[in-house]
Amino acid sequence: MTNLSFEEARDTILRKVSPVGIGQEQLLDCLHRVAAEDVIAPLNLPSFDNSAMDGFAVQIARGGKPTAFSIAGSVLAGETSSLQVEPGTAIRIMTGAPVPQGCDTVIPFEEVDESNNTIYLKPGANVLPGKHIRRAGEDVKQGDTVLESGTVLGVAEICMLASLGRTTMCVYRKPRVGILSTGDELVEPGKTLARGKVFDSNSQALAAAVIEVGATPVILGIARDNRESLKTKLSEGLDLDVLLTAAGVSVGDRDLVRPILEELGVKQEFWKVKIKPGKAFVFGLKERKPVFSLPGNPVSALVVFEEFVRPALLRMMGHRCVLKRPLTAVLQHKISKKKGKAYFSRLRLEHSEGTLKAWSAGNQDTGYLSTMLHAEALAILPEDRTELSMGDQVNIHLFSNRSEMMETSEEGILPASPLGSPTVLGR
Ligand code: AMP
Ligand code: MG
Repeated sequence: MTNLSFEEARDTILRKVSPVGIGQEQLLDCLHRVAAEDVIAPLNLPSFDNSAMDGFAVQIARGGKPTAFSIAGSVLAGETSSLQVEPGTAIRIMTGAPVPQGCDTVIPFEEVDESNNTIYLKPGANVLPGKHIRRAGEDVKQGDTVLESGTVLGVAEICMLASLGRTTMCVYRKPRVGILSTGDELVEPGKTLARGKVFDSNSQALAAAVIEVGATPVILGIARDNRESLKTKLSEGLDLDVLLTAAGVSVGDRDLVRPILEELGVKQEFWKVKIKPGKAFVFGLKERKPVFSLPGNPVSALVVFEEFVRPALLRMMGHRCVLKRPLTAVLQHKISKKKGKAYFSRLRLEHSEGTLKAWSAGNQDTGYLSTMLHAEALAILPEDRTELSMGDQVNIHLFSNRSEMMETSEEGILPASPLGSPTVLGR
C-alpha cells in the first residue's frame, strides 16, 4: 500500500502490533509498566484494628461519659498488648499500634490534660465512640480485587502492592527495540568529522525516545549504504522484538533499505504516507515483528516516532491507552500548506484565559532541528486544508514531559512554563 492518510497508516500499525509477552518482575522494575495479572488482596488492610493518632485508647460506648481515666499501660507501634481495658481506664497508644481489647476509641494527646497517672478531657474535647481507630479491612478487604490486569503501575500501585507484601508482579514485557542508522555520510559522535560527513544523531535520539516510552533500546550502530553492510546490520536487528531504521528509504540512488528488508523476509505493509514531514516512512512485518523504517532527517524521524512508533510500542507493552489525547489550541497567525498531506507543525504554546494559544516554534523546514528545542506540541494540520488562519482551532499533541512544571524563585513560585498551571493539561 502507498500513500495512506495519517490515520490510515496509524490504524494499520496499531492493528498489526500486539504485546510481546509477560513476565514476573521486581516491584521497582514494574514502575510505569502494565499489570498482566489481577491482584487479589491476600489480607485485610489494615490487617488489625489500630490507632490513627498518638493518644489514649479508652472504652466509651459502654462506660457512660467519663471525663477522667486512669492510665493502665501503654502500647507502641509494632507491639501487641494483652491489656484488657475497663471503663475508666486508658492505655497510652501510638499511631499504628494495635488497639487493646475492650477499647473502642482513641483520644488524641491534644485533647487531654495529664497529671498523676490520670488523664482529664479538656473542655470541648470531642470524644465519640470509634473515633481515631482504623478498623481491620476498612481500606481493603481480603479477597478484594485491588488492581486489574491492564492497569498502569504508578507510585500508588507500587505502594499498594508492597502494602500487601508483594515483592514481584506479573507485567507486560518491555520490547527490545533495535535502532539502526544508515548512511555513508554518518560519523559516530565523538569521532572526527571530515567535510561532507554528519554526526549520527538519530541513534541517540531514537534510543532516548524509546527509553522515554519505557521500552529497551539496542543501538546497532551505523550501516553503510551498500548491500553487505545493510544486510548484516538489518539481520542483526531482526533478531530483536522491533526494528527501527533511519534513512535510506526515499528515492535516492543509494536508498537500499527497502529492497534489502524485503530480501530478509520483511513484508512491506505500506510505504509513503500523506504527511509532512515523514512522507517516505515504511512499515513492514517479519512474521509478527514490526519494522519501522523512518526518514533519515532527524526532525522527520522524531516526528514519525512520536506519531506512529510511540503508540505502537505502548501497545506492545500492554498499554490500552496508546494515543495522546488531542487538545485544541488557537492559532495566533496564518499557516499556509499544500493540499493532500497532513502537516505536523512544531508549535510553542501559551495558556491564557482558559485557552491554549499556539505559535510556530520556528522555521518549519525539516532541516531546522533547533525548532524542535522550542516546540511544546505538534499540531496536526488536516490533509484537505491549504491555509489556516489566525484564530483557527488546531488539534495538537503535546510533547511528553514538556510544559508541565513551574519554576521557583526567591520571591516565590513563578509560572515559568508558557502553559501556566500544569493542572489545565492533565496527563
Ligand atoms: P536520507 O533519508 O538517507 O535521504 O537522509 C535524509 C537526510 O537525513 C540527509 O541529509 C542525511 O544526511 C540525514 N541523516 C540521515 N541519517 C542521519 C542520522 N543518523 N543522523 C543525522 N542525520 C541523518
Ligand atoms: Mg541516505
